[in-house]
Amino acid sequence: MKTNNLGYPRIGSNRELKKACESYWAGKISAEELLTVGATIRKENWQLQVEAGIDLIPSNDFSFYDQVLDLSLTLGVIPKRYQGLAKTNSTIDLYFAMARGSQKEGQDVVAMEMTKWFDTNYHYIVPEFTKDQEFKLFSEKIIDEFKEANALGIATKPVLIGPVTYLLLGKEKEEGFHRIDLIDKLLPVYFEILQKLEDQKVEWIQFDEPFLALNLTDKERNAITYVYNEINKRFPKIKLILANYFDCFGENLDTVLALPVHTLHLDLVRCHSQLDDILESGQLSSNVNLSLGVVDGRNIWKNDFKKSLALIKKATNALGENRILIAPSCSLIHSPCDLELETNNATLTPEIKQWLAFAKQKTEEIVLLKYFASNEIDISNSIRFEENTIANENRKTSALIHNDAVKNRVASITTGDDQRENPFSIRRKKQIDVLNLPLFPTTTIGSFPQTTEVRSWRAKFKKGELNQQQYDDLLQKETEETIRFQEKTGIDVLVHGEFERNDMVEYFGEQLDGFTFTKNGWVQSYGSRCVKPPVIYGDVSRPNPMTVKWAEFAQSLTPKWVKGMLTGPVTILQWSFVRNDQPRSETCTQIALAIRDEVVDLENAGIKIIQIDEPAIREGLPLRKEEWATYLDWAVKAFRISASGVKDDTQIHTHMCYSEFNDIIQNIADMDADVITIECSRSQMELLDAFADFNYPNEIGPGVYDIHSPRVPSSTEMVKLLEKASAVIPLDQLWVNPDCGLKTRHWDETKKALIEMVAAAQEMRIAE
Ligand code: GLN
Ligand code: ZN
Repeated sequence: MKTNNLGYPRIGSNRELKKACESYWAGKISAEELLTVGATIRKENWQLQVEAGIDLIPSNDFSFYDQVLDLSLTLGVIPKRYQGLAKTNSTIDLYFAMARGSQKEGQDVVAMEMTKWFDTNYHYIVPEFTKDQEFKLFSEKIIDEFKEANALGIATKPVLIGPVTYLLLGKEKEEGFHRIDLIDKLLPVYFEILQKLEDQKVEWIQFDEPFLALNLTDKERNAITYVYNEINKRFPKIKLILANYFDCFGENLDTVLALPVHTLHLDLVRCHSQLDDILESGQLSSNVNLSLGVVDGRNIWKNDFKKSLALIKKATNALGENRILIAPSCSLIHSPCDLELETNNATLTPEIKQWLAFAKQKTEEIVLLKYFASNEIDISNSIRFEENTIANENRKTSALIHNDAVKNRVASITTGDDQRENPFSIRRKKQIDVLNLPLFPTTTIGSFPQTTEVRSWRAKFKKGELNQQQYDDLLQKETEETIRFQEKTGIDVLVHGEFERNDMVEYFGEQLDGFTFTKNGWVQSYGSRCVKPPVIYGDVSRPNPMTVKWAEFAQSLTPKWVKGMLTGPVTILQWSFVRNDQPRSETCTQIALAIRDEVVDLENAGIKIIQIDEPAIREGLPLRKEEWATYLDWAVKAFRISASGVKDDTQIHTHMCYSEFNDIIQNIADMDADVITIECSRSQMELLDAFADFNYPNEIGPGVYDIHSPRVPSSTEMVKLLEKASAVIPLDQLWVNPDCGLKTRHWDETKKALIEMVAAAQEMRIAE
């Protein structure tokens, strides 16, 4: 039996990589210094895994920005606009220019597109393919890193994205071809890489093909068969691990079981039944081994050794120990680095801490599981085994986790609880009477600029340099100025500006029971950007109102309507580490009830318009289409529960960004928000078509300007977009607003842009 790690976090335990990259971009350190930081992180990671006892230690899992971009550079997939740069710049500068764009010495090239890596919060750089795309070995990173580890005396297992997944991750930049057709041109470069690695006496190699967890076309499936047969023909001696993760093989299983590979890696966390499916199929060739992904690479919970050993035993009984590898479910880049760094953290009590494992601890778990499963350590004499059992038992019964009142409330939800009193058509009339808004009402999405000053107040407050009163006074002043600005500009529905919030999820998590926070639990989101998701460990409830004070204060300043601002249950769930001892739907429903109470409290405080943001509803979609309906069912229901406690004449808004709506438009309509605001301007209102084609019945605010850029749009531009919108959506259903919140913008451009936006709305009203 062997242990097999799929990838280790590359950000460094103290985010050394982030700091080094940002210093390099700011011109504060040299390329050489940056490269040294990279080498140090790699060395530390490899040595840590050697010491832990991992047999198959990954290399080429390190990246200065993103592993997909690394591969594009390796394969010479460099879009034309960078080719000038490729001649004059170093590889690292070319690489960063592709990732981030580059504006210097008269050059001006935009970055490549970035998108989410499957259903994670990691973002990769999307490869760009042309019809006559050529591939050539441009960078030898994978070979260099293998040699680098060899020089340290460590024989690693190079990891790379398989050719089918690589092509499918990309985009055709021209019409008239499908990227999968490039496979014949692409494969020779993979052969070249394998040849060079074989020359270096590589023994193992890992090919990641996570597209095998998706619904593939026949053509895509055939490409898998073709690729791995061709590789096997040429390199029969290399032990190739084909890794799938994030979901089951599904209908791809027969194809996979016929492949001539050395080992198949299974994600048994996301697809618990995969092992049974394979063993029962009787189709697993006697030459193929299994890597069992039993340690969760995407969450922070301690493994349950008893459960994992039962699975491993099942596999070893059927196949023998020699054919089994023990692994994390997927690469550990989705886990924070090291739980031991959580010291001086008052919210992460020892009781909670004993339930957790980060990348370093997961690595140790993998090794222990091997020793237990192979009886090299007797579990009845092992302190580590006992400790694991105690922690897992404690978690099952802990009073910190289990709150009967919450469980009972969820259990007693009835059908009426996710229904407003009346359908939208009736609510609408009542809302028109009460709210008295003009045609094309204007509003914003919630946040106003979080200036360095605002953030410095929060930092000082946290350090105790400002007391509660002083901090609140400053925030009140900022809120009042924001209200005055909106009044003066003629915005119809105002917001308070969200100055008191550090983050749209953390702010709520901090006030809800059942949440805790790490100090150093960073995970890479994209490039040098890391996130620190809250941890939902227990039943969620709301001890006190969370936003009422600020909404009430803002409303007291003005006769205009101030919109209450909340984050929705699905988004709070999606952007946290979620407990794994009950279904996600259950946790989501608990959060929904807490938000529902907040909505009702806002209404009681006189707030007539309440927005419940759900930007993450689409990214929560499962990878396999057959699982969509179940997810959408509970996710939409959770939103409805949160929104349905109010009277007909209280107007509920929701907001979503970065979304394609076509395939889920029915579900969005089922959410039944009175008003939905969406991101639309970058697609020139194209995203609105889904709503138009569907005859979306409720009101809708298509974003008229892009908040991701400091550029100030003219009212003329926005009028054009609004005319486009009016052509497909009835006028009296339309709102006018930016694409998203304004927290990342500066005041100067924000003011100018909103003045233009109001002018655009006025022009539209006159035209009517
Ligand atoms: N209300 C939030 C804001 O304005 C919404 C942010 C989001 O959609 N990501 O910042
Ligand atoms: Zn948004």
